[in-house]
Amino acid sequence: MIGSTLRVGGLEVRAVSVGGLETCIELPQLRLCFDIGRCPPTAVRRPTVLLTHAHVDHAGGLATHAAMRDLLGMTPPTWVVPAPNAPDIEALLEVWRRLDRSGMPARIVPAGPGDRIPLEGGRFAIPFRVPHRVYGLGYAVVRPRTHLRPELAGLPPEAVRERRLAGEPVTVTEDVVEVAFCGDTTAEVLDHEPLLARAKVLILECTFLDSRVPPEKARAQGHVHLEDLRSRTERLRQPAILLTHVSARHSAAEILRILDDRLPGELRSRVTPLLPRSAPDAAEG
Ligand SMILES: [Zn+2]
Ligand SMILES: [Zn+2]
Repeated sequence: MIGSTLRVGGLEVRAVSVGGLETCIELPQLRLCFDIGRCPPTAVRRPTVLLTHAHVDHAGGLATHAAMRDLLGMTPPTWVVPAPNAPDIEALLEVWRRLDRSGMPARIVPAGPGDRIPLEGGRFAIPFRVPHRVYGLGYAVVRPRTHLRPELAGLPPEAVRERRLAGEPVTVTEDVVEVAFCGDTTAEVLDHEPLLARAKVLILECTFLDSRVPPEKARAQGHVHLEDLRSRTERLRQPAILLTHVSARHSAAEILRILDDRLPGELRSRVTPLLPRSAPDAAEG
């Protein structure tokens, strides 16, 4: 598969994601990617990977990421990984170093729900649990923003200054959720995870779109079905939603037709599907 470059809610996204085959969502402005199924050449330039789970179509490109950055003289990558997977990923990398007879430096950061993992530019990654067939995390990327307490907003600047000098707290700091990514998950994550409701950009998988795989079966496989989103329209208030990980059984034209048919118009207007693009020679290899 080859990646697509899109703009979703002001965020540049370079992404490839097809259920079962390969997922890597690059955010060039934030210098990171979510998951790294096969390490697309452009993902080598992202120093940080936030890994959701250890399925091969999401994690298989880690060794290539470390090796290519080493080869090109770039800084060692940082991989934020689910804490239960960290020892195995470390061991896997160690085997690759032995086979490759090279250093392949990488910093592995074990992550758990609710951690605040510092990123570049004053941002943080906050992991949250997602329901899937194996242990999985999603990530919210937040930027703390300090502003005047709302109840003081109408006061003249001198009055605010007086209160501040008197020791009264005049500002509050809140996390702006710039983007949230759920990895592979069932739709229940939307019911349980408050960070998602606050996301400016939500990147959500939607593996199955029609009755060929019904919603119950999608859930049993640990995935989202389009009907799960239809029934949760009121929870999907995010200004921009990118749907990824659609099953390879659907063509681009079919994805667009089904979304137009099944999603309520207002929700449809905020949804961008990541459409499959095949490399011209893909069938030969
Ligand atoms: Zn997957
Ligand atoms: Zn998976």
